[in-house]
Amino acid sequence: MEIIRTPAEMTVWANKALAAGQTIGLVPTMGFFHEGHLCLMRKAREKSERTVVSLFVNPIQFGANEDLGRYPRDFARDCQLAEGEGVDVLFAPEAQAMYPSEASTRVIVSGLTDELCGASRPGHFAGVTTVVAKLFHIIKPHCAVFGRKDFQQLAVVTRMVADLNWDVEIIGHPIVREADGLAMSSRNTYLSVLERQSALCLFRAIAHARRRVRTGFVEAKVLLQEVGELLQQEAVTIEYVSLVDQASLQPQAVLRKGAVLVMAIKIGATRLIDNDNLFEEN
Ligand code: AMP
Repeated sequence: MEIIRTPAEMTVWANKALAAGQTIGLVPTMGFFHEGHLCLMRKAREKSERTVVSLFVNPIQFGANEDLGRYPRDFARDCQLAEGEGVDVLFAPEAQAMYPSEASTRVIVSGLTDELCGASRPGHFAGVTTVVAKLFHIIKPHCAVFGRKDFQQLAVVTRMVADLNWDVEIIGHPIVREADGLAMSSRNTYLSVLERQSALCLFRAIAHARRRVRTGFVEAKVLLQEVGELLQQEAVTIEYVSLVDQASLQPQAVLRKGAVLVMAIKIGATRLIDNDNLFEEN
């Protein structure tokens, strides 16, 4: 596996692969890999001849009071894990190389970014779409794999690609969970043992909502109240709980196919998100 540190060298590599007629699959990440990341890498390998994983803790998608400074990192371990998955290139640029001081462009998707995580993290999605747009230009992938764990991010990136007529296939990968249902996340390492137990309320809420939907229940307002009560049985702060359409992200009053339960909570200082497409088979 090659480790590439600068956008210019990355583009030289990509141009060579493209000249040789090879397809490139990209997995954008912020590192500190877990099984969720590795599944995305496997999917990218399955879908393309060459696989690039970007590892970049993107400063512009963090708010001033967020965890940029303490975001978990273990570059040596990440290299080993990516190599073990048969990744061709780990692209790990410095912030200065991605955002030289004169850089002054932002890619902004409006509308879809107003609510949910966008409401509580102003500027976050502009940071995400800007870095993803840059990665697409630098690496020129045929496809890029994103996790459904970051449900709104996937919707926003899909919208950006459609709006800008970008010839990149965006692939959404199902959420990878621990055996007890907790969605894997680099941020789970922040949780104490007790907090880790409390975090399971997210999966309990999903299981409850799924059961209700399976029995034909369609009233979003009531279901949201039940989910809220379930979450509040633990010492958590609810940032949002909503039932939205998977494509438009608009709240649904009457649940139907495409309804997604989306949640963001805080446990102590740790912010966790989770979601579930309630009408889809697991
Ligand atoms: P991150 O490093 O947290 O920015 O995540 C990089 C990519 O991995 C994003 O597309 C995430 O949605 C995806 N991802 C993170 N956790 C999971 C998970 N538990 N299951 C599936 N995808 C995930």
